[in-house]
Order: sequence, then C-alpha cells, then structure tokens
Amino acid sequence: MKRPSPHLQPLPLRVRPAQFEPAYGLLGRLAVRHGYSTSRAFVAEMSFGIADFVHDLECGRRVTELALLTKVAETALVTATMITDRKGVLRIGSERVSITANHLAISGAGRVCPHCLWADLETRDGPIACRPHRRVWWDLAGVVSCPCHGVLLLHVCPNCGNCPSRLPASPRYCKCGHDLAGSTTPSLDDADLTADRYLIGRLKGGGTSTHPLFDRMPLHDAARAMLQIGQAVMFGAREIRFNRRFNQPALQAKIASIGFREAQP
Ligand SMILES: [Zn+2]
Ligand SMILES: [Zn+2]
Repeated sequence: MKRPSPHLQPLPLRVRPAQFEPAYGLLGRLAVRHGYSTSRAFVAEMSFGIADFVHDLECGRRVTELALLTKVAETALVTATMITDRKGVLRIGSERVSITANHLAISGAGRVCPHCLWADLETRDGPIACRPHRRVWWDLAGVVSCPCHGVLLLHVCPNCGNCPSRLPASPRYCKCGHDLAGSTTPSLDDADLTADRYLIGRLKGGGTSTHPLFDRMPLHDAARAMLQIGQAVMFGAREIRFNRRFNQPALQAKIASIGFREAQP
C-alpha cells in the first residue's frame, strides 16, 4: 500500500460509518455531507493530493488515507471493504472472497436493495441525505438478493434502464436522478434466499457459518460451487453451459439455494 499523504487532516464535517459499508461508500456519504452529488466532484474540489482517490478506494486501496480524513479506525473500514492483500488474496476483513484478485467476484452493476435504502431513511439518524448507505455484499457477484427483505437486488434503474453506479455519492439515487429508495423489485420465496443468507452470514463473522463443505471455500468459490451443484440437481450433470442461466438472478438464487441444501450432510 502507498504511504499516506502527509498533509491529510481529518475533515471537519464527517459521517459515522455504517455496518458493512465499504470505504468507497463512506467516501460517497462524506461527499453528500459536503453538498456534492458525486464522489469525484468532491475529491476534485477538496484537492487531497491523491491522483485517483475514488478509483483507488473502489479497488480497495488508499483505505489508510480515508481513515485519516474520517477519523474512523482503519480496521473498521477494512472489515467491510474488498481488499487484495499482499499475497494477492481478495478479502473482506478476515473472510476470503477469492484466492486471486478475481474481478469476476465483484459486481460492477452498483446493485442496491431499495428496502434497505428505505430502512436507512427511517431508522438511521443524522442528516437525511447521509442516511442511505451501501452494503459491501451488494457488490459480491455471488449474491443476488437481500435476505433481510426477501427481494432481489435492484440491478437496473426503473427510470432509465441503466445499471446504477457503485460510485454515486449516495446509493439512493441513480445517475439519472431517480430515487431508488422503495422501488419495487421481485420478491423471492424464503427457500431461495438460503444461499445468499449463508454468504452474507459469513461476513458477520462470529462463527455463524455452519456448512461443513462451503465453509472451507472462499466466498466466491462457495457461491460458484452451490450453483454448479444446484444445476446438476435441477438440470442434470450434462448441462455445461450454466453461465447463461445466471443472467437471471431469480433463477440463480433458486439454483444456488438448492445447491446449498443438496451439499448439506
Ligand atoms: Zn434489503
Ligand atoms: Zn436511472
């Protein structure tokens, strides 16, 4: 990791980090707190002296610098940010996501749970604009739903049809300006939430993981293995072009959850 820029001082206006909020999400809310609609505009205006701070944070770098600016413990940011360690392992805190810096493990679609955003507005305190926050698991490619609310993550803006960005200042708004909080997204049967409930549960730590096979795999490998096992159950082992099916998130959730249950002892 690059050395901290020596002139960085804590910003006078700050926001409290939220659970599961990645570093680039915190930067976004910091931008909102300062009245900016994009992280890039905020960073450009503040002249932190870091060439591509937003991109670096998105890639899990420069967390030390964000910790200095926000007075948040770096360890707290690391536990909720996808970071490639010195051995080239992609991690979220102590959880391995992939043993390589595998970009396929990360969703670039900027998905959100509209119900989580709405809950943030209703239950968090502080300035309303700063309440909705990103969850790092929205950006795990192996996760397609929000088990808390029983819905698929929203991956297309209902207004403009584009994927929301991972890097707006607030996850609440699409680049087109549409308010995503409370948008409708398909509900899933509880049984189809099993796989994502397991994957997200691992990020909570504390020994909540309970699967004798998948616990031994990095998160992304576990997600892939569930899909392959589930597919073999649903379609037979001869089906090999399974990737095509996984453009359908509801089907992905169902197949992965079947795979999870099938592999239980
Ligand atoms: Zn949710
Ligand atoms: Zn839009």
